[in-house]
Amino acid sequence: MSDQVASLQPIAWHEPRSTYDVVIIGGGGHGLATAYYLATRHGITNVAVVEADYIASGNTGRNTTIIRANYAIPEAIRFYKRSLELYQGLEAETGADIHYRPKGHVWIAHSEMGMRTERGRVLMNRAMGVDTELLSPEDVKRLVPQIDLSGGGRYPVFGASHHVPAATARHDRVAWAFASGATGRGVHLIQHRPATGLLREGARVVGVETAQGPIRAGIVLSAVGGWVSQVAGMAGVRLPVRTHPLHAFVTNDFEQGLEKIVASTELACYVSQTERGQMLIGAEFDSQPSFTRVSSFDALRSYAYKITSLLPFLKQMRILRTWAGLCDISADFSPIMGDTGVDGFLITTGWGTWGFKAIPAAGEALAERIATGRTPELIAPFGLDRFRRDHVLADQGSAGTR
Ligand SMILES: Cc1cc2nc3c(=O)[nH]c(=O)nc-3n(C[C@H](O)[C@H](O)[C@H](O)COP(=O)(O)OP(=O)(O)OC[C@H]3O[C@@H](n4cnc5c(N)ncnc54)[C@H](O)[C@@H]3O)c2cc1C
Repeated sequence: MSDQVASLQPIAWHEPRSTYDVVIIGGGGHGLATAYYLATRHGITNVAVVEADYIASGNTGRNTTIIRANYAIPEAIRFYKRSLELYQGLEAETGADIHYRPKGHVWIAHSEMGMRTERGRVLMNRAMGVDTELLSPEDVKRLVPQIDLSGGGRYPVFGASHHVPAATARHDRVAWAFASGATGRGVHLIQHRPATGLLREGARVVGVETAQGPIRAGIVLSAVGGWVSQVAGMAGVRLPVRTHPLHAFVTNDFEQGLEKIVASTELACYVSQTERGQMLIGAEFDSQPSFTRVSSFDALRSYAYKITSLLPFLKQMRILRTWAGLCDISADFSPIMGDTGVDGFLITTGWGTWGFKAIPAAGEALAERIATGRTPELIAPFGLDRFRRDHVLADQGSAGTR
């Protein structure tokens, strides 16, 4: 972070109007970033973001803050690489301190099959200009001295891939940076205002219904995280998306310091250290679709067992807090962005357990789609029509959760 970067700028609040060029439903990272890039890249400021609760109250304020581009298919690597680049410049661009911290992501394999996957990832990443290298077990020990290479005798470390530029950033600050950047240019942010329906004129969506009255719009973008099936349903759009809870927890402070983000492919669990020194731990989403955000003891027990097999020091730590978010998991584990087949109604969804890292690139690309009417090449493969065309983007292994 440069010396010029101040702390967060205030959010400018405005009286809502009855009509906007663009209404974005959902004040999470994706909705706010789209509003920000509409204002900054295209000068479109007659925009409202309607948020049911407060900004970043959904998954944007609940995630484990990992930013990386080490995906396995070219479309995804290109897209997340762009997002990483935008994140790297976000403090300088917005003047907000988002606590961006490059750390490196060590993705451990526990079998020959796992190593084959990581070798493939390294080759594909490097071919596309993403800095990922292969590690032997000795290299892993050098970068993560606390690791038990025998994996508790059950999950031996065969090696890993190391994605050097992977980083973390404070999630609430990212949301706030986009919100203040957008509202400072005239975008309206309306909190505690759920969209309860969509206004239709014939087949076209022309605005949103709220308890306080309708708001008309030239374009409506749904950016509602785990609630997407309901909102898309208001437009008669059925999505290949299911909502599953995902849990995380933090421990008390670990004095030694764990420099890297450590993840396991086959165990689907991961850990990083927060700036306060706490260990932040996550794993796979609940297999049962649900809308509960109540933490579960089952998830906690399973995450704790897996991660302590790799990092035994964690057994000495105390769990301080657990929480859960609602993840919009798409059928192919890749996002869905852009047109829905209903005029005037766009979506950004399928962000599942992996959408925090995508916030800047998705916001930038969707703003371009809204401003120009053309879908940018970067997100063209991620359209909803891919399921009809049988061009799915299967990349489950890169989600890091399953
Ligand atoms: C525990 C956990 C850990 C994660 N870890 C990572 C990680 O390390 N890295 C990563 O890249 N991703 C991670 N993710 C995923 C990431 O958090 C999400 O993909 C991302 O935040 C989605 O952002 P969003 O803006 O689409 O949705 P959200 O942040 O959920 O925002 C949607 C907003 O829409 C609002 N809303 C819903 N319905 C309506 C309505 N009808 N009217 C108005 N507003 C409405 C909600 O209140 C909410 O504020 C994690 C998720 C969880 C739960």
